[in-house]
Amino acid sequence: MHEYSLVLSLLEHVAAQAAAHPGASVRRVEVRIGEQAGVVVEQFATAFELARRDTVAAEAELVLERVPARWACPGCAREIPSGDRLACPDCGDPAHLVAGDELYLMRLELEVT
Ligand SMILES: [Zn+2]
Repeated sequence: MHEYSLVLSLLEHVAAQAAAHPGASVRRVEVRIGEQAGVVVEQFATAFELARRDTVAAEAELVLERVPARWACPGCAREIPSGDRLACPDCGDPAHLVAGDELYLMRLELEVT
């Protein structure tokens, strides 16, 4: 499962950030996932549930934010709605994906005990 390896690298990143605050535990992890990132959100959440055990994020709440795909013309920068033919109506150039292929760790909430 591709999502599982993404979760593992996310948790490594979370652990590295939490390590800067000794004794802290992670309360909340916010992740932004683009519609075109090739990630199945449900599988990502399931993988997180499994992988977070025995990590600094064992008690963390996972918040996933989906980012819709956005396309634009590389020539004139005109925005092209997804679902339509993915080419610029003015230039005929194929649209480029300008948002929606990302997977970011947005925010981390730590609790120092
Ligand atoms: Zn154009």
